[in-house]
Amino acid sequence: MPNDLRVAPPLEQRGFGEALARRGLAPLTRHPVTTLQINVGWRCDLACTHCHVEAGPKRTEMMDRKTADRILTVLRGSSSVTTVDLTGGAPELNAQFRHLVVGARALGLQVIDRCNLTVLLEPGQEDTAAFLAEHLVRVVASLPCTTEETVDAQRGRRVFERSIEALHKLARLGYGRPGSPLTLDLVYNPPGATLPPPQAKLEAIYRQELKEHFGIEFHRLLTITNMPIRRFARALEREGKADAYSSLLIAHFNPETVSGLMCRSLVSVGYDGRLHDCDFNQMLDLPLGGKARTIWEAADLTGLEGDPIETARHCFGCTAGAGSSCGGTLLNAKPARARGSEVVRKETGREPS
Ligand code: SF4
Repeated sequence: MPNDLRVAPPLEQRGFGEALARRGLAPLTRHPVTTLQINVGWRCDLACTHCHVEAGPKRTEMMDRKTADRILTVLRGSSSVTTVDLTGGAPELNAQFRHLVVGARALGLQVIDRCNLTVLLEPGQEDTAAFLAEHLVRVVASLPCTTEETVDAQRGRRVFERSIEALHKLARLGYGRPGSPLTLDLVYNPPGATLPPPQAKLEAIYRQELKEHFGIEFHRLLTITNMPIRRFARALEREGKADAYSSLLIAHFNPETVSGLMCRSLVSVGYDGRLHDCDFNQMLDLPLGGKARTIWEAADLTGLEGDPIETARHCFGCTAGAGSSCGGTLLNAKPARARGSEVVRKETGREPS
């Protein structure tokens, strides 16, 4: 059973690179870069237990204008990039957030906002939802369960109630409706040390329950495996589950996921302009596997094709079971129901990532 922590650990606790090599899948190298994921800063109005960034209200790490401008310059010369993926913390709290959205949209790129929902109700953020709609930003919002008890346990008191309020605010603007160009995707991650259930099945449950109880519609549900990094890693240690969780991920290594790993087509840039192979590597301070180390060293992102990708033990989190990425499961994902490639092509003039 994929969710059973009692699953026998493999005889060898081998590293990720070796697991790839034994199946003839090493070295892991980059394809053309289609997505730049920008972590604009670690400040957040929440401090969730599963957060691999360890974000929270007291964090001060934030991107400045000079770095944001450099990113837009590099994007201008990166013809393979179709998508800018803004994350944090709560990216909306960063002073550069709107500058990056407007700049990326002016370049014809699709923009994703990884939104915790509650930030849309924070003082000073009253017009953020309308701003997102005006610029056709795709909202990818965390909602780890359809019940108050589970969400509040993972994310804090009254977070579920406020998340539903924020979803209603987005719905009034047209987000999540079938056929709407205002895309709303929801993100599920398990409440603890288990793998996510099958994405398509869980999506059907979310769709039914959110519609029935709250009148809320959305486009896709993305299931994401918890990464044993930072705050979640420490919670595992405290509960004595760190080794068992690591064994669970390794035991469910699925070579079929490797061709679709997000690091093959995505580059991550931190608030300080440093480049990484993904947001997880960024939090572990693992630099980009290729030569460029910062956004100032990379003339464009097209030149990174073919570079090696830096991997470590946490990468088993991306290859366990059906696989995991910021875009949800890597295998057996149901195609988007209400917003297809045609909409992305129409909006951006480029192929969807
Ligand atoms: S953790 Fe990052 S580098 Fe490792 S497999 Fe996942 S996306 Fe790739």
